[in-house]
Amino acid sequence: MEPVTTTSTDTNLDRPKEARLLATLSPSRASDFKQCPQMFKFKSIDKIESPPTVYQARGTTAHLALQRLFDLPGPEREPQRLYDLFRAAWMELKEEEYPTLFESVDDERAWGIESLNVLANYFSVEDPRSLEPLDRELDMLEDLDGIVIRGILDRMEETTDGLIITDYKTGKAPPERFADKAFFALRIYALLIRHRTGVTPDGLKLIYLTGPTVYQVPVDDEQLDSMDTQLRELWDTINTAITTDSFPTQTSRLCDWCSYQDICPAFATDDPEPS
Ligand code: SF4
Repeated sequence: MEPVTTTSTDTNLDRPKEARLLATLSPSRASDFKQCPQMFKFKSIDKIESPPTVYQARGTTAHLALQRLFDLPGPEREPQRLYDLFRAAWMELKEEEYPTLFESVDDERAWGIESLNVLANYFSVEDPRSLEPLDRELDMLEDLDGIVIRGILDRMEETTDGLIITDYKTGKAPPERFADKAFFALRIYALLIRHRTGVTPDGLKLIYLTGPTVYQVPVDDEQLDSMDTQLRELWDTINTAITTDSFPTQTSRLCDWCSYQDICPAFATDDPEPS
């Protein structure tokens, strides 16, 4: 875990609390709050930036490469083309978003080789030549009658199992008994699709490239109605937290991956600084 090094100069904290109430909520920010309200505050209210990690860089670059893979005609969607797209995407993103991520060329090269090995797994779980997604990297912004949800949906396709919403993860899958939690964001996207198109998706699919592992579950109106209720409650809970300035810490094993651990009250020590 890398420490937080950059404190935002955003003036959000200077604004009245009412002006800081949610305007929109993304599935990932909703997940943040569910995981730990204090982490949500650091990230979304205080806007404290955390240093980018090699894992984030791999995820962003792989998403762009996989998105562009489907710009190619079906028969050309071969592994070598995906690797080339990954390299090209990295050259674009590196300068803009990750200029100081690697200390040496050797570190960057080792990361690149590992990333291509992770990407190679994609072809063992799916044949992109046989898929024609309806949408990729779809910008969703839906007003669900008073709560506004925004996010980017990775991919959606019509298959023999019906309309499927798919999300790529470059990391490792959680054990199957914990997998249901991982579908939280995809259920929100399914709700947004139903709201936008009037069509209820049939399934949700998570592709974890490290492993690789694929989890797919059915989805229906009952689940989406329940998600709608859950999101409204979460929206209200977050706004209450903002107006009362109450963001409790929620420690878990995920704290080991939290960039804010060194400024988190749950990990504060009373030891005075050595003089
Ligand atoms: S270290 Fe743990 S408790 Fe602290 S903000 Fe991060 S997730 Fe929350």
